[in-house]
Amino acid sequence: MIDFELTEEQKALVEMARRFAKERIIPVAAKCDQESRFPREVFDEAWKLGLVNPTLPAEYGGQGLDEVDNVLITEELAYGCTGIQTSITANTLGFTPVRLAGTEEQKKKYLGWLAKESILCSYATTEPAAGSDVAGMQCRAHKQSDGSYVLTGQKQWITNASHASFFTIFATENPELRHRGIGAFIVERDQKGLSVGKHEDKLGQRASDTASVMLEEVRVPANQVLAPPGQGFKLAMETFNQTRPDIGAGATGLIRRALDECVAYAKERKTFGVPIAQHQMVQAMLAEMAIRLEATSLLVRKAAWSLAKNIRNPLTSACAKAFGADAAMATAIDAVQIFGGNGYVKDFPVEKLMRDAKILQIYEGTAQIQRIVIAKHVLGN
Ligand SMILES: Cc1cc2nc3c(=O)[nH]c(=O)nc-3n(C[C@H](O)[C@H](O)[C@H](O)COP(=O)(O)OP(=O)(O)OC[C@H]3O[C@@H](n4cnc5c(N)ncnc54)[C@H](O)[C@@H]3O)c2cc1C
Repeated sequence: MIDFELTEEQKALVEMARRFAKERIIPVAAKCDQESRFPREVFDEAWKLGLVNPTLPAEYGGQGLDEVDNVLITEELAYGCTGIQTSITANTLGFTPVRLAGTEEQKKKYLGWLAKESILCSYATTEPAAGSDVAGMQCRAHKQSDGSYVLTGQKQWITNASHASFFTIFATENPELRHRGIGAFIVERDQKGLSVGKHEDKLGQRASDTASVMLEEVRVPANQVLAPPGQGFKLAMETFNQTRPDIGAGATGLIRRALDECVAYAKERKTFGVPIAQHQMVQAMLAEMAIRLEATSLLVRKAAWSLAKNIRNPLTSACAKAFGADAAMATAIDAVQIFGGNGYVKDFPVEKLMRDAKILQIYEGTAQIQRIVIAKHVLGN
């Protein structure tokens, strides 16, 4: 049976997230964008309301919500600002490897920490010379006789790195082994040898912090090894499989925001004596936006539903991410077009949407990498 109706709990969740976006995110979004500032106070308030880490399992103090609940929240936060939404939802990317592969002790400690305190965590596979090619990472993990590892290398473009209390870091025992050499490690922020680079000055999603992480002989005790070398690559890929629908949810929120802004503007703005909403070519752009919104939302909900039902469905996850990101970018470009000259200046909200949308086609696997994942499944490779 197919049922698109939300439960009463889900309706309440959406209502709360929508109000939070309206009252706490939208009023600060433009300034945070301008100042390239992550609003920690907004994050802390979201945490208190339960809008951060919604899928944290209940046995470790979390709410134990499922992926459908998660994408509903993300969509609402993204409507307010995808930069602030990314700062909030990147915690789920950071803790998913711990949820999937952590020992009981690790889960109690790190998932419990996220439930107890308003902290951030980061996920780090990317390096200066290895982004799409995750298996090409160079960051080294040297095993010691006591079972600990020493990590040396650099991670790049790490969301929330400047604020993270702990990191899930992927490193290799030997780069020549490629995916067969990769392990995963939990590293706490104050561990000796870990430092964070400068906050990146980005095109869009400027309220989301992005920075590099340097590892200089960081000693990781055996009880912080998440996956030994050989098992980390699979964990990284499964993490992406489970978090990609959420990128699609961010896209859904952005598309919905663009459509709302454009409908309001098109009814107000007059050319040739009539509101531009009466020109069929403007209507066509609005209609395309509505098509993209419906299609992205359906894909995201199907992908999230599969995860909630424990049905492994990497094809739909990748489609939700790939289609959603492209749809958001195309919609934001059209939104600027509908606003004309006003679309090109910062006094109106849509130029930010266009800058913010671009990263959806890049992070957590580029548009091209999603096609590779999708083609692999289509071809049965
Ligand atoms: C704001 C931001 C936040 C990020 N957050 C995180 C984070 O929290 N954690 C983390 O680990 N990483 C993060 N990343 C990194 C992000 O996932 C990578 O930037 C992304 O995977 C692309 O890698 P790259 O930048 O090295 O590009 P490259 O891999 O160098 O790719 C360059 C271009 O070549 C294309 N390309 C590459 N290989 C192929 C191929 N085989 N076939 C066809 N085309 C190909 C790509 O699609 C792209 O268009 C973030 C990046 C940014 C910018």
